[in-house]
Amino acid sequence: MHIDVSTLLIAMTLNMLTMAVALPYFMGQVNRPARWAQAGIVLQTVGWVLLLLSNVCAPGGWADRVLSTLSMACIAGGMAFNAVAFDLWCGRRATARAPAVIAVLLTLGYGAGFSNYAFRVGWANGLLTVQMALLVAALCRRPRVPVGRWRWLLVISLLAQMVVTAWRGVLGAFYTADFPHFFAPHVVNLVFALVANVTVVLSLAAILLAHRDEAARELERLATVDGLTAALNRRAWLAQAGIDLAAGVRQRRPMGVLMLDLDHFKQLNDTRGHAAGDLALQRFAAALRSVSRAGDVFCRYGGEEFCVLLNSADLAAVQAYDRRLRGWLAEHVIPALDFDLSYSAGIAMRLSDADTIEAMLRRADTALYLAKARGRGCTLGG
Ligand code: GH3
Ligand code: MG
Ligand code: MG
Repeated sequence: MHIDVSTLLIAMTLNMLTMAVALPYFMGQVNRPARWAQAGIVLQTVGWVLLLLSNVCAPGGWADRVLSTLSMACIAGGMAFNAVAFDLWCGRRATARAPAVIAVLLTLGYGAGFSNYAFRVGWANGLLTVQMALLVAALCRRPRVPVGRWRWLLVISLLAQMVVTAWRGVLGAFYTADFPHFFAPHVVNLVFALVANVTVVLSLAAILLAHRDEAARELERLATVDGLTAALNRRAWLAQAGIDLAAGVRQRRPMGVLMLDLDHFKQLNDTRGHAAGDLALQRFAAALRSVSRAGDVFCRYGGEEFCVLLNSADLAAVQAYDRRLRGWLAEHVIPALDFDLSYSAGIAMRLSDADTIEAMLRRADTALYLAKARGRGCTLGG
């Protein structure tokens, strides 16, 4: 059986080309990390196409130099794009500075030292190996969000590529006679071409799995927040409040619930329109966000009602929160709206170890009802 390097590498490039075209089309609208991953694949594919084209040009000529140097820029640049995608998928801020710097160094050094075959092969493969090692290290770091096993697929695939790439670099740089050109039928080059084909398939699977992970996380997030105000929704708040209440009882910390209801909101909708009502709700949630501190958990309880759970807070602290909120609304929100925005509120403190969130909410609701009856715009209970 005869296996030749050029056929394997052409087949791999065709597979990458298919992936580069098919993924953006069939994945449709995707989020940020998937876009970086797709762009990385497109760049690497362009790189491989250019690399193959450079090998049909006169060796060492200007076309060879330009095409190969551009191909190195695309392959290493694509790798840096993929590093951004992996970071984002692992819940980290994406910088990928080191892989990007390596991509630039690789391209500059390769272009400058092109006429020295041993140098350019050693330089390019050496730096690509370092780039892959950085990606492996990033993938092995503990992700900030729960991620599936896809990252190990990438780690395996990158480790395999690292070994054969480094080996090629050493051959090209120090045993040039054994590896005189790109398609040289050396066993290492053959293994490289085989590994390249396998890793394309592994990477495709990993990217699709990572994207599925991310989409599932986004759905989970959407299930816990309110679409209009981005505040937690009632279900998520109740779950969190239950956990915090148990912890508060165990640690003997005081705790309060503040239930807020916007005043005459129906009238606002009727006179200013639904869009003005929506804006008021968004601004109100932003005000809650601004005055909340660590341990304060707020949600949109429903319609124009909001709830805040104040951990480690006594009555004075809950009342202080309420005052801060009224102050913030008066200073930052109401002047920016061309209508008045006020709210009534009820406070319920945790009374005993046997108290429940439901009971606290009932008491807060009663106090809120009284605040409405008293003429609105005030806070009662405690
Ligand atoms: P009160 O001072 O007694 O609380 O009077 P109110 O008008 O605020 O209370 P009511 O319960 O009669 O009306 C609440 C209104 O809130 C009715 C509903 O149309 C409006 N609302 C609920 N959800 C939304 C929303 O998402 N957007 C907008 N614009 N309005 C909403
Ligand atoms: Mg209401
Ligand atoms: Mg209301």
